[in-house]
Amino acid sequence: MLIFYCNYCNEMLKGGDYESTDQIVERLDEHIKKCPPAAFTFEGTTGVATQRLATIVPLLKLGGLDLPHTH
Ligand SMILES: [Zn+2]
Repeated sequence: MLIFYCNYCNEMLKGGDYESTDQIVERLDEHIKKCPPAAFTFEGTTGVATQRLATIVPLLKLGGLDLPHTH
């Protein structure tokens, strides 16, 4: 499972391993739209999730987000 925690509004977004990367990115995108200063702390709890972070985190950075590095 992927866990994204928004440091700005304290909301937690989760992405299951059964979901597509697109679905998870869309969820983050929606959050950023309603919470523009969003800054996410992220964690992958499974191998699949960790691999997805490698795809998703650069996308978030392209969106101009300043992401803290946490593990
Ligand atoms: Zn937020």
